[in-house]
Amino acid sequence: MQFRLRRVLWALALLAMLLVSSGCQPTLPTELPTGTDQLSVHFIDVGQGDAILIQFPSGQNMLIDAGSNAYAPTVISYLQQLGVQKLDYCVGTHPHEDHIGALDDVISAFPVEHVYLPKVAHTTRAFENLLNAISEKGLRVREAKAGVAIDVGEQASALIVAPNSGDYQDLNDYSVVIKVSYGQTTAIFTGDADRISEQEMAASSFDLQADLLKVAHHGSRTSNAQELLDRAQPEYAVISVGAGNTYGHPHSEAVERLTQLGATVYRTDLMGNIVFKSDGVSFTYKQEKINDANLELTVDRRAEVVSITNAGLGAVDLTGWVLVSEVGDQRYTFPNSTRLQPGASIQVLTGPDAKPGPNKLVWTKSYIWNNDYDPAALYDAKGLLVKRIER
Ligand SMILES: [Zn+2]
Repeated sequence: MQFRLRRVLWALALLAMLLVSSGCQPTLPTELPTGTDQLSVHFIDVGQGDAILIQFPSGQNMLIDAGSNAYAPTVISYLQQLGVQKLDYCVGTHPHEDHIGALDDVISAFPVEHVYLPKVAHTTRAFENLLNAISEKGLRVREAKAGVAIDVGEQASALIVAPNSGDYQDLNDYSVVIKVSYGQTTAIFTGDADRISEQEMAASSFDLQADLLKVAHHGSRTSNAQELLDRAQPEYAVISVGAGNTYGHPHSEAVERLTQLGATVYRTDLMGNIVFKSDGVSFTYKQEKINDANLELTVDRRAEVVSITNAGLGAVDLTGWVLVSEVGDQRYTFPNSTRLQPGASIQVLTGPDAKPGPNKLVWTKSYIWNNDYDPAALYDAKGLLVKRIER
């Protein structure tokens, strides 16, 4: 009991020390050049838990939760494969292990600009590890509470719509709920918000309409109340949930409430990683499974040279593979019989100086790569992502 009490006090003290007021944050200038004109939402399959990456048109990355501790390598390698170099925002929705368990390792693995947590402490090792990782990086915690706007660039917005009060009995009700808007499209990420928080949101004046809804609490029947779903009117509902979990999530009552509203339900236990992209007009579902061929991809944007090296042990047939310059969505399809032996490299050349040669393919004599910001992505012949780099 003594020890437990000491740990509670310690966690409270550390949280208090790390917390900065989020009321008066400066508005950061959006220096990044225009990104891809797309908003991407990745629901990373972390079994029973949540881990969601949002990539904003500004090029900024926001990670909401990271799953339980065992999924740290999964989340880190997913982000690396996508070419994420920096997390502008890390949000821990609430201190439960299935949400923040791996967040300490992710924060240690990437440069992180800002961390948002609700103002509540928890006595678990997972929560202590998170606070330690934050403190070791010299970061402060911004308090996540309803009404706080997060600067995600000029084209999109992110607004915290819960928690609306404090002193909840149920830790789940502290869940940070974020509404993201881009063009005409909207999405809401609910953590594990439960009955009380949902009642508060429903009673609030926030616009809770959401084309894309991250279903609360893994599809629990105690969340996802009808009055809240009526406000959201989701077209797509994503449930982040582990196969065969002991809670029986998702509960059929919650799934029925969603389908009755006309929502299409997507589940990570059935589909693995789930990716949605918005062009500002509508969301579309992308089956972004990943081809794990061991290739290295580098882009010299000024010289207009893309190099692909086979770092694996077997030959790779690039026939029909597609190289994409995401700014402008320009695509190059590799010709028939393009094979890459282990250790070998091939270059794809663009621009006026492009000349064919051994292991040199000419895409076009036009300039393709935007020198400031232009992610390159390589897809295999089935359309699975192999590699993506942002810079
Ligand atoms: Zn949970």
